Amino acid sequence: MSLTEIERLQALLPVWVESSRQLCADGKTASYIPELAKSPLGALGIHIMDAKGHSISAGDAELSFTMQSISKVFSLILALMDNGETIVFDKVGMEPTGDNFNSMLKLELVQPSIPFNPLINAGAIAISSLIAGENPSEKSNRLLEFLRLISNNSKLSYDHDVYRSESDSANLNRSMAYFLKDKGVLNGSVEDVLDVYFRHCSVSVNCADIAQMALVLAYNGKNPLTGEQLIPRRYVQIAKTFMITCGMYNASGEFAIQVGLPAKSGVSGGILSLVPGRYGIGVVGPSLNRKGNSIAGVSLLEILSREFDWSLF
Ligand code: GLU
Repeated sequence: MSLTEIERLQALLPVWVESSRQLCADGKTASYIPELAKSPLGALGIHIMDAKGHSISAGDAELSFTMQSISKVFSLILALMDNGETIVFDKVGMEPTGDNFNSMLKLELVQPSIPFNPLINAGAIAISSLIAGENPSEKSNRLLEFLRLISNNSKLSYDHDVYRSESDSANLNRSMAYFLKDKGVLNGSVEDVLDVYFRHCSVSVNCADIAQMALVLAYNGKNPLTGEQLIPRRYVQIAKTFMITCGMYNASGEFAIQVGLPAKSGVSGGILSLVPGRYGIGVVGPSLNRKGNSIAGVSLLEILSREFDWSLF
């Protein structure tokens, strides 16, 4: 970060957090996973990290939240590292749907019956079945270790209450997974695949963890602090492209216009975003807008992109 940018961020980030926080009252926490309904509606936090390890945070950046759909970016990357592009894209497509993240509509309407992309639920469930491992716990452990590596946090673990709450209430995801099994998209036992999926969605993080993960993507798979290439560049390119086209649910087009950065949000209110070659960004704000994105988090990213001219377009 140039000094002036750090100074401006330090001075203004808390102000922008407080102005965006006002919007929290207009949204709702996710309730279809009962445990997520308990998240603090008025919380908003952000952490921004650069390649030299400088960090700036504001608001409720220390709040713990579950990765939910943010984890789909990393399960996709690990599946690509385990299998290569040909096998992965035999099971999931590369296109946005325009439907809700948990919709089954196009699975039957459009042939072949493979999920449109790896960031919707059906696609991420298919991806979970591609993670290498002898059994669900080995697959989940590999994924957790991968997230620990990318976040540079060996303590990352599951929020067991959220895991159980999702597993107990996931009728829609279950029906989708059984449909995919019937169409030959899923390998192995459906319940085993779902367990891997629920576990990676329930990994507990804070904004600094997400910013660190985003920083690795911002540097094309390299940890800029150590110089270690953690992910092949090509797979980061694929992941970031999906983040632009499908990362913010049905508001991905609007987000590309208003913010113009790769991003992935989750129903816990987390958002991972990045400025390529510059910053990793982690945001949390559990109050969601009608499209399922953090209402205040999106507003905060809009302000930042506008003030610092971060849009890629
Ligand atoms: N675990 C959530 C689900 O399957 C993830 C949804 C999301 O964050 O978009 O419904």
